[in-house]
Amino acid sequence: MKFEDVNQEEIKNKIENLQSRVEEATELAPSRNEFEETMEKQNALEKKFKKKQISYEELQRGLCELEDSTGSVETKELTELMDILRIIGLDEKEVKEIVAHENDHCAKALSFGLETFYRIQFLKIKRENGETDLAILPSAHFHLPEDMPDDEKIKILGEIVSAPEELSIYDEKQLQ
Ligand SMILES: [Zn+2]
Repeated sequence: MKFEDVNQEEIKNKIENLQSRVEEATELAPSRNEFEETMEKQNALEKKFKKKQISYEELQRGLCELEDSTGSVETKELTELMDILRIIGLDEKEVKEIVAHENDHCAKALSFGLETFYRIQFLKIKRENGETDLAILPSAHFHLPEDMPDDEKIKILGEIVSAPEELSIYDEKQLQ
């Protein structure tokens, strides 16, 4: 077996693995309304933390209770994020736009030495004619160190959310 053969086999396996993860996620996708309700609750908690009405511990506990990655695919690698978006069927322009946006968030988080990962959340949207469409919601994630002072956490959160040139409606909501 030549080296190229091994390499191609590996790539094929990797794509097949991603394909089955995408398939599984689309089957488990929550409805968009259901998901947005959870996001509203997460946002409300973050706002309380920023106003210092709750501690970071309380924020984490609340987010943990709400956290539900059902119907999503996660990856730490940008190239894998691109592969996932291609598998879903997005064209290269859309792939580039999404990757650039999410990478801006992650690059900022990395500049603070934080661990990051990407998530593609699948959402079911019910049409008026009864049919169901699938939508995706890409996002960048990171962990803040527990021992960082709250003021610094709040400052860094703001910088990471506002890092991309064009913000999404969800970014805007987080910054309000
Ligand atoms: Zn964003």
